[in-house]
Amino acid sequence: MNAGGRCENGSAVGSQFVHVPAREARAIRAAAGSRFRVVDVEGGQVVDLFAFAADGVTEYASAEHTRVSVDRLFPRVGEAFVTNRRRPILAFEEDSSPGAHDMLCAACDPIRYHLLGADHHASCQENLRQAMADLGHEHVEVPQPINLFMDVRVEADGSLTWGPSPARAGDSVTLRAELDCIVVASACPQDLNEINHRHPTAIGIELLG
Ligand SMILES: [Zn+2]
Repeated sequence: MNAGGRCENGSAVGSQFVHVPAREARAIRAAAGSRFRVVDVEGGQVVDLFAFAADGVTEYASAEHTRVSVDRLFPRVGEAFVTNRRRPILAFEEDSSPGAHDMLCAACDPIRYHLLGADHHASCQENLRQAMADLGHEHVEVPQPINLFMDVRVEADGSLTWGPSPARAGDSVTLRAELDCIVVASACPQDLNEINHRHPTAIGIELLG
């Protein structure tokens, strides 16, 4: 499926809404200091979010470095996601959702779907690669995503429990770019387990300027 990697300019004046169709991704350019909101339009939808430094895409938001930075599995509002060079790249400003987010699980990819018996299935990995390629960035690293609205719980025995996303229609996360960056949001196409209620839907990126 075509990821449709159109790019919108996050420094545009006023609010602008970038619609991300179900199972696809879109990229925005976010200038340092600009804010944007990732919206779960219909509810129950996981968003795989990626952020790359505009001046060099080998630097990107890194889950493992962020966990070290905040001493938690996922930052709280008021904290920041950092890069693989340990620089803040996205500040976590607001969260209107129930607060279930994940930073442990890899992006879905063609091999994952092959193992599930579904070849030629759209994936967050291919969505990301297409969106970045459309901006002239071929062969980027596929980082561990920031999985917004994804309910993954670590149980006492170390096992993981995957639940359906509890996000409600219109729930959003607001982020502020700390570096000039390229942000890619993928509306996760996973329909073979419960994370998206087996029914992937559209998301949006609201550019707040
Ligand atoms: Zn996915």
